[in-house]
Amino acid sequence: MNSKAYYGKFGGQFVAESLMNTLEELDQTFEAALKDPAFLEEYRYYMEQYVGRETPLYYAKRFSETYGTNIYLKREDLNHTGAHKINNVIGQILLARRMGKRKVIAETGAGQHGVATATGAALFDLECTVYMGEEDMKRQALNVMRMEMLGAKVVCVRSGSNTLKDATNEAIRTWAKTAEDTFYVIGSAVGPYPYPKIVREFQSVISREAKRQFFEKQHKLPDVVMACVGGGSNSIGMFADFIGDRDVELIGVEAAGKGIETGEHAAAMAEGRPGTLHGMYSYLLQDTDGNIKLAHSISAGLDYPGVGPEHAYLKDSGRAQYVSVTDAEAMDALMELCRLEGIIPAIESAHALAYAMKKAKTMTMDQNLIVCLSGRGDKDVHTIADYLAGKAYLN
Ligand SMILES: *Cc1c(COP(=O)(O)O)cnc(C)c1O
Repeated sequence: MNSKAYYGKFGGQFVAESLMNTLEELDQTFEAALKDPAFLEEYRYYMEQYVGRETPLYYAKRFSETYGTNIYLKREDLNHTGAHKINNVIGQILLARRMGKRKVIAETGAGQHGVATATGAALFDLECTVYMGEEDMKRQALNVMRMEMLGAKVVCVRSGSNTLKDATNEAIRTWAKTAEDTFYVIGSAVGPYPYPKIVREFQSVISREAKRQFFEKQHKLPDVVMACVGGGSNSIGMFADFIGDRDVELIGVEAAGKGIETGEHAAAMAEGRPGTLHGMYSYLLQDTDGNIKLAHSISAGLDYPGVGPEHAYLKDSGRAQYVSVTDAEAMDALMELCRLEGIIPAIESAHALAYAMKKAKTMTMDQNLIVCLSGRGDKDVHTIADYLAGKAYLN
């Protein structure tokens, strides 16, 4: 296998032989597109006119003064469809068009990536099928409705735990049979090479903007850059342009769920071991027999048992640090941002905020921290209400 497919020992292409040519074709299309000014201009056009970029880098004054350092929020919550996922989806759909594919498929857990893909497919008049676990379809009925309104077909997956991991397996299986006319839109910086590279590229718009915006305000680099980590797409996008700036501390925040010690969490970096899932070699939550364990997080978007291979490499090389916060800490941070700034963040993003609150206490008012606010919390209001009412939440 070619070495460019690896980040250190992580990554690779662990897929059926029948997909190897498709992945190679995708890689060539992507590399050519990046050198084509017309493609770049088209991507820029949709980011600006459809998604609503650039997003503000907002100085959260009251939040900063309360916690003791300057905290800036990269407002991905203000994108069309309410999160960062659309940056990647539009990019991949433009690649699908370039490859002449008329059909797209996607996996979805909570439904956020499914909704973003259905949105992009409607925009470009492509046939869209989304694979979703039966359990997730029950929990996220509103997102199923959204996808159907946008013209997508939602396929109910009944296998394993009936959740994201199983939906992804099913999507990959289907793709292996239909790759001729079908493009697989992956929702995070995971999967076989070149997907982690492609997703990173389309999400790196986050750090390119943030770096320039911060420089315009402060004429220097920030001290710390932080983002939550599910599969790792908003975080790799937030890190990308800062990785070469050795003085900038990079911190990824995973979901510790009910607490790492309970075993009910989604902290693949803290507690996982390297293994193979969904076409990649990376850190995964596994039992002693190597079976993939169910992840738990109050936030559906962080509820994934693995992490993208570049993060595994950034962890092992020491360039980035990975920490975790519990459901309870994330919910406290969420309420804190509502009250101090009038912004209702997604529960995923609240994980990054929770660690920012801890980190800020070790910093001074001369220093600066950027948090990626990956999405807005409108989708989470029911979960928040249940949590605040002290009811048990699902999973
Ligand atoms: C999906 C999602 C995430 C987690 O996915 P990553 O690929 O790790 O970014 C985080 N925040 C929001 C708002 C999401 O919708």
